[in-house]
Amino acid sequence: MIYLDANATTPPDPVVIEAMLPFLTERYGNPSASYDAGRIARKAVENARLQVAGLLAAEASEILFTSGATESINSVLLSAQRLWPDRPLLVISATEHAATLECASRWEAQGGRVKRVSVDRNGLLDLEAFRTALEAGQTALVSMLWANNETGVIQPMEEIVDLAHSAGALVHVDAVQMMGKIPVNVQAVPVDFLSLSGHKMHAPKGVGALFVSRRVAFEPLMVGGGQETDRRSGTENVPGIVALGKAAELAMSLDLSMLELRQLFEEHLLAELPDIHIHGLEAPRLPNTSSIYFPGVDSAGLLIRLDKKGIACSGGSACHTASLHPSHVLEAMGYDAVHAGSTLRFSLSRLTTRLEIEQATPAIIAAVHYLREQQDVGVVG
Ligand code: PLP
Repeated sequence: MIYLDANATTPPDPVVIEAMLPFLTERYGNPSASYDAGRIARKAVENARLQVAGLLAAEASEILFTSGATESINSVLLSAQRLWPDRPLLVISATEHAATLECASRWEAQGGRVKRVSVDRNGLLDLEAFRTALEAGQTALVSMLWANNETGVIQPMEEIVDLAHSAGALVHVDAVQMMGKIPVNVQAVPVDFLSLSGHKMHAPKGVGALFVSRRVAFEPLMVGGGQETDRRSGTENVPGIVALGKAAELAMSLDLSMLELRQLFEEHLLAELPDIHIHGLEAPRLPNTSSIYFPGVDSAGLLIRLDKKGIACSGGSACHTASLHPSHVLEAMGYDAVHAGSTLRFSLSRLTTRLEIEQATPAIIAAVHYLREQQDVGVVG
């Protein structure tokens, strides 16, 4: 298989798996236990905390381990609404991940107000509209994707944080797609909360982290045994946490080859299919993501044809492939349902090879030509 769907999930790095394996076998102690096996597990968890903190330039005490970014996002949004009922407004962008969108709907169901700020044709936040949306003293929280999972478009987070803080609002960023691709430094860009996910950075699924700045209050979503300094109860997923720590350590060194391969990929496709359109081309983009519109080609048909050729990619975000709704991200960028229905997302990881790109591009080009020819001669199905 040629795997070009790393924004859905990344292949686990063998080094990461090697680091976690002992904690699935002989080092199974509960980190809360006071004997040696417990101390070994505790030490591993705290080491992972240092590794994740290091990746973000945060302090270890500012990192909580969770079951993934969905939990991290839910925790922050629910906490903000509970802590600051006198500030009923939540501001998000129109292109958020489903986790944030659903939390925003819940925010409204619980009596709060939500403003969903528009983006431009390149997927960049309309900063003027954002400035207006921030009602000073009324906004508890701004929650934004730093980099979009469908298009890879990177938002101007420094300006967003500046504007939000000036209006007295705290900022949560969904930085899931940034890790290992773009440096993230919470000193340089002083966000208040940040969510990340293990399986988007070569660790396994079911583990994530939440950065909570020491400057801000936080009320836990999960209550129980008081783990994670009383901010996230539940016995720690020690193997997952160890894996996430190792993945964070590896993500410290950014790999430029991803950008080179993505360039090669897009150049090859554009040379043979000059009418395709790459979304967000004029905006800063992640080095691994290509969201491509293939005029006159049904994306579901292309997806199936590529799947048969052993190429895995996506019709949008993974959570949308099962639904019939066109991408809300492309819709917010001003594209219609027909355009969205002819769009595929290809996303590379640092484990993607040049050979894979060299094999995938002619196969994609051939599949597009084939589907267009079938359509021309009126073949149905
Ligand atoms: N945020 C973004 C941008 C994502 O791509 C994903 C995964 O699809 C999530 C949040 C949810 O992460 P998790 O699968 O760890 O719950």
